[in-house]
Amino acid sequence: MNLPAKSIVLGTLLGGAVGDAIGAPFEGLWTDSIPSADSLAASFHEYHGYPNGQYTDDTQLTLATIQSIIEQDDIIVADVARHIAELWRHHSVIGPGGACTQAAERYLATGDHRNMGAPVGQAGNGTAMRTAALGLWFDSDESLIPVVAEVSRITHQDSRSVAGGIVIAMAANLLSSDSDIVPHSFCRRLADSCRDINSEMADLLQRLPNYLNDEGVMDFIAHAGQRTPEFDKPIITPFIIPTVLASIYSILAQPDSWVGAVTFAVRLGGDVDTLGAIVGALAGARHGIDTIPQNLIDCLQDARDIQVLATRYHLAIHAQAGESGR
Ligand SMILES: [Mg+2]
Repeated sequence: MNLPAKSIVLGTLLGGAVGDAIGAPFEGLWTDSIPSADSLAASFHEYHGYPNGQYTDDTQLTLATIQSIIEQDDIIVADVARHIAELWRHHSVIGPGGACTQAAERYLATGDHRNMGAPVGQAGNGTAMRTAALGLWFDSDESLIPVVAEVSRITHQDSRSVAGGIVIAMAANLLSSDSDIVPHSFCRRLADSCRDINSEMADLLQRLPNYLNDEGVMDFIAHAGQRTPEFDKPIITPFIIPTVLASIYSILAQPDSWVGAVTFAVRLGGDVDTLGAIVGALAGARHGIDTIPQNLIDCLQDARDIQVLATRYHLAIHAQAGESGR
């Protein structure tokens, strides 16, 4: 694996934040209530009660994770947990999920990061929403998988959510470093990365490329991992399995464009701030900062701070690679 260029690290962090802010006004809506791709890319839409270009919890937890890594020059799971929980101490989290909130409250009450994650059975997408940028840190599958699993368990103990966190980190890593992304081999690598943690997620990822040109693809994705679908029509709920499949599908369906992938993902409907955040980060890891519309970066809340953090993260990645002789 090659070290990521600065444009890739900036693209991952700013891309995630911009994608989050594109989707935030439309969280929970069906596709037919979401504006066209051109409209989504032209400017941020009104997010009631918040300033233009506001991102949400997905970006906040990602930035807290990266802030911890920069301060420690390493991934120290206890410190990542502390940074995440601190967001709740200040009541500053925008649109938080229930499992992450409960995990943070457990940490703030006990100071123990090892037992703070939501119990098995709660398989939300609060892991995958914050691990894409983390994936750029690693130079091998062997080092990425166990560490991202531990970082995922900060908020979720369920193996499906842990697997989802690993898959998104691995996807960012591969998209940033592999010149050629072939759907079947890409999905097999992703499946292999999580098979020991959760074989159901692995099997579904491996089957995903078979549906790429199939009109049943959205039924396959939206209902994956559920015995009884929650809705008759396909929509991406905050459940980890459909979230991960929809994110990877968006990248494969729109492989050549940041705007194409992100607007495609947001227009799937449902938990679309998280989809925007994940796909924005993955497409940024693939295409770099220059492919993200400058007008959106200019209007993004805290864009300058995120740019500074990403620049420091890029330096930290290269510094630790130098130390390890990578
Ligand atoms: Mg959110």
